[in-house]
Formats: sequence, structure tokens, C-alpha cells
Amino acid sequence: MGSAEAGGSALGFGVAGEDDRQARRVLRELGRMPAAAAPLVQEVRERVLVLALTPGETEDHGLIFFHAGEDTSFSTMTTTPALPGCTVVAHPLVRHKMALLRDRATPTKLFQELVSELATLLAYEATQQLPLAPITVTTPLETTRGERLATPPILVPILRAGLGMVDGIRALIPDARVGHIGLYRDHDSLAPVEYYFKVPPGIASHDVFLLDPMLATGGSAANAVTALKRSGATRLTFLCLVAAPEGVRRLHAEHPDVPIFTAALDRELNAHGYILPGLGDAGDRLFGTK
Ligand code: URA
Repeated sequence: MGSAEAGGSALGFGVAGEDDRQARRVLRELGRMPAAAAPLVQEVRERVLVLALTPGETEDHGLIFFHAGEDTSFSTMTTTPALPGCTVVAHPLVRHKMALLRDRATPTKLFQELVSELATLLAYEATQQLPLAPITVTTPLETTRGERLATPPILVPILRAGLGMVDGIRALIPDARVGHIGLYRDHDSLAPVEYYFKVPPGIASHDVFLLDPMLATGGSAANAVTALKRSGATRLTFLCLVAAPEGVRRLHAEHPDVPIFTAALDRELNAHGYILPGLGDAGDRLFGTK
């Protein structure tokens, strides 16, 4: 362990190594600070960077920031990325709205509004790489150069909860066209089965944003990406509000070319495939079906 100055603030480096044999499991599955890093947090009383090094598994280590006093779930961290391929959008407005969204007392209408607003904020972050084309603009005073999106992206919500994210992104990108993918989980095999698939023509030449508020096991997301690639999509991004580490790992393993943006990276899945701490069933809460 050591410490260094970075960006004006003290950072400590804790290595989850052999002296903390639980650290690797803890970091990966529980999102808790390894014991080896705790004294550093005390000492520095600032941010502590934990390098979760897992010997022999170079793919699966990440940089994780803890704040003084923080030893709980991934969702409270300000780290990006916490898992390979995953960006956690940790803007204060996102974190504020996520706490409201999680609250079981939040009524349907507010829940819908929050999903939509969070989708807008996520889309702002996730569209940073969209290509631009030059244009000429005439202002009231003179002519100048400007830019526009080269090709508006295509949004593809996974039915039904993904629908809740569409309007918030279209508020930002009104030209975005929308496809739909319907998947259900087979009771026996638990595998996702596609029952609806319709996307705008020319998908190959557009950025595609696949939407689902919850990235749980990653099965539906991976399946939907496969279906979109089959229809010609080449530039795909997955947007969700809550991700489980299991889902991030699976989607990244099956489609390492697809970046994942989430508002929160939660602790784990329970035995029924629900994300903990999560927010419950996103579809039921969006549409008032329970
Ligand atoms: N889908 C949901 O709506 N919630 C979860 O926690 C997991 C999957």
C-alpha cells in the first residue's frame, strides 16, 4: 500500500491481496471495502483508491474509489468504471433521483418521471462519442460554421420496462427513431425467448442504444444484442438504470464491444433474479401492474 497526490487530492492505494483473502470475493460480489484498505481510509480521510487485483484473472479487476466512512454497496461509489466495459454515471442529480426511484413509497407517476429523467441524464453521458457533420448556420448577424449529429441514433427498448426510458431520450434527441424487442423468460429453461422484433431500416449505419432499466442476469440484454447484430447493427450501447455485477459480467463477456452505461451498480442478484438492493420490478412499478 502507498499514497500519492492525484488531481490535488490525496489518494491511497490499497491492494486487495493475499493478506485479505476475502477481498476478491467481497469486492466482486458484495462491493464492500476490503479490510486491507480500511486503515488507509481512516488515515487519509479522503478518497481511497482500491486496486482489486485478482491474481491470474487480469480481465476482472477494477479501480474502485471509497470515501471515508463508506463500506457499503457499489451504488454509493463514485467510481467509473467499476467493472470492465461498465460506466457508472455518478452525477449528483443521478444519485439524488436514484434514491427516489428506489424508494418503495414512490408512486407510479413519479416513478415514470424519474425513469424518464434518469434516461435523459444517462443518454447525455452515453452519447459523447456520436459522430458530427459540419453545417453552415446563418445567425441573425452573419453566417458561421456549426455541427449536427451525422446520423441520429436508433433507440431500442426491451419490452416492457425499456419503454419507460424512450421519451426521456427523445426529449434530448427528437430525431431518434425507435425499434422494439420483446423477450420473455421460458419458465422451464429460464432462457430468454424473443416474441417481437422490429427495428428501423438502415440500422447498420446508425448508433443503436439498447434500453432496459434493469441489467439483472444479463441474459435478455445479451440476447437482444445478438438479435440486433443479426439485423446489421454494428455500433451498440446498452443503457440501464440499475446493473447487477452478474449482468455486467455476462453482457461484457458475450459482447465486449458493447459499452454499458448505468446509473447504479448494485450488490448482487437474489435467488429469484432480482437485483439487491435494486428497486423491485421496474415494469410493474412503471405501469402500476402490482
Ligand atoms: N427486473 C426487474 O424489474 N427488477 C429486478 O430486480 C431484476 C430484473
